[in-house]
Amino acid sequence: MQYKIQDYLQAFGVISWVPVSFPLLATAALALLEFGMGCYLLMGIRKRFTSLVVLVMMLVMTPFTLYLAIVNPVSDCGCFGDALILTNWETFWKNIILLIAAYSVFRWHDRVLRLIRPKSEWLTSLYIFIFCIVVFAYCLRHLPIFDFRPYHIGANIPQEMVIPKGAKPTVYDTKFILEKNGVRKEFSLDNYPDSTWTFVDSRSIVKEKGYEPPIKDFSVEKVDDGQDLTDEILNSDNYIFLLVAYNLKETDDSEMDLINELYDYCQDHGYGFYALTSSLEGDIAAWRDRAGAEYPFGQMDEIALKTIVRSNPGLILLKKGVVINKWSNHDIPDEYQLTDKLENLSIGHLDKAKIPHKILTVLLSFILPLILLIILDGIFAFSTYLRKKEDLFLNPLKHKKMRKKIVAGNWKMNKNLQEGIALAKELNEVLTADKPNCGVIICTPFIHLASVTPVVDETIIGVGAENCADKVSGAYTGEVSAEMVASTGAQYVILGHSERRAYYHETIDILTEKVKLALANGLKIIFCIGEVLEEREANKQNEVVKAQLASVFGLSKEEFANIILAYEPVWAIGTGKTATPQQAEEIHAYIRFLVADTYGDTVADDTTILYGGSCKPSNAKELFANPDVDGGLIGGAALKVADFKGIIDAFK
Ligand code: PEP
Repeated sequence: MQYKIQDYLQAFGVISWVPVSFPLLATAALALLEFGMGCYLLMGIRKRFTSLVVLVMMLVMTPFTLYLAIVNPVSDCGCFGDALILTNWETFWKNIILLIAAYSVFRWHDRVLRLIRPKSEWLTSLYIFIFCIVVFAYCLRHLPIFDFRPYHIGANIPQEMVIPKGAKPTVYDTKFILEKNGVRKEFSLDNYPDSTWTFVDSRSIVKEKGYEPPIKDFSVEKVDDGQDLTDEILNSDNYIFLLVAYNLKETDDSEMDLINELYDYCQDHGYGFYALTSSLEGDIAAWRDRAGAEYPFGQMDEIALKTIVRSNPGLILLKKGVVINKWSNHDIPDEYQLTDKLENLSIGHLDKAKIPHKILTVLLSFILPLILLIILDGIFAFSTYLRKKEDLFLNPLKHKKMRKKIVAGNWKMNKNLQEGIALAKELNEVLTADKPNCGVIICTPFIHLASVTPVVDETIIGVGAENCADKVSGAYTGEVSAEMVASTGAQYVILGHSERRAYYHETIDILTEKVKLALANGLKIIFCIGEVLEEREANKQNEVVKAQLASVFGLSKEEFANIILAYEPVWAIGTGKTATPQQAEEIHAYIRFLVADTYGDTVADDTTILYGGSCKPSNAKELFANPDVDGGLIGGAALKVADFKGIIDAFK
């Protein structure tokens, strides 16, 4: 990837604008980002943020790869190194698929399964990034763990160079760039212009793609006399060490003594030893001087040398043209390893079991600790849940006292303005005479708000709207904004009611917007969640409420303090069918557990969770007696003062 970034910078003519370390640092940053985001996606960590980052990455990369496919400045993208070489068009289509996938994950991020609690995300992230950095550093210091290049250990170089009989070779066309009177034009051999044009540059393009052998550029020429060494190196029955140093000016010379010792070892045992480079003769002479190098030098193409080994210098051991072993500069075998003839040492023999063993080691060393982390996190989560349950059982009063008890009425689309004002006035009189033991809220249609707020004592009765728009203001005919609701003196708004979700198609995303706007305008929110009958019958109620809570779980702790949750099983709303106190408690406790999981125990203890669905004076007391049921959201029974008061009195 580092070499690819260098290629891109070169192709765009900006290589001199950036520091030399940029390609390597950019590679590290990109690898960390891609690997980290991949792990985050798979584990459901910071779902919204992660899916957004992934989508933005794809939105940037897709047009860029379209440009690369059209202009073709570098022939293969480099996305997967040599493991999988794609043409620029293949890369573009791959990105289109990934873009669709990234969009889907972003759109439905709330459905991504979370494998780890938010509390433990930092530890998981630390592990993922440290693992990535360690592997990165290991590959830099030693050699890449997996070698996908044609010169990998076990490769038979002469065989990799063979072009099968009858296979067509690739045909290249050369384009010449020439200039005249400040104008640059491209020519081919067929229309090469006269000498009034000045030559600037040339480039080769593939005219007809033919068979390309994996290795096509292994050719070595002895530095001092120009003798062709290719045959001798590839066909020798003897061991041959090749010290690969493509650019001697940049070659790390910290191990030159060890290299000289290795050369002496080769001399003693009659093994071949060549240093291969693409450097100029002056640089070779300077190296000989500096390193006291007596070994012979061979000249070879720079790209071929970079492909052979990713270390400068790097070392490879050949026998009959087969790569027996490879070392980076930091691992050059020393006297403790070279204790005998190579024939008698393990480093002198091909280790065929190495690859599966390596794959297993890398996979297990990443996945096993991660699985352990997930299991430990699960155990912690479960024990916290059990501890909380036990505590609640032993100390129900302690928890009952912490949060506000509320009875809220939802008038829905009932009562004209006069009827509504009369109802509010009557309720106010009754509750002024007999003070409630809980908070009381009435949520009315929009048109009632401005008239109802002045007729009630706000220390006894809070007023709220039943909905607000998901837009700030503007051309949204018929909508009422959160700011307008707040301007009537109302303090609350119901959001996410099942009737609005079902009849007006309010999605999690729309509700997320409404929540934000309501909070921005100082309103407190009664946020409704609940499953439909089929979901209850399929025992999916927990899953459903968890997904619906996504609209409020992105809020900060401070913002969440303004949320009152209302669990309303849709099958119980207006049907006369009430959830049993056990059913209500079970799911309320689960909802509180989810709040604790996201915001911690203190916030969970302070969150009011109302029950709604055919709540009446006759069943209110039993429902509200549950430790996790903190009151009710009342529909039908809120339209008659006597019924509503009967429910409010359940707290007496
Ligand atoms: C409601 O719609 O919020 C509700 C709970 O209705 P009801 O009490 O009529 O079931």
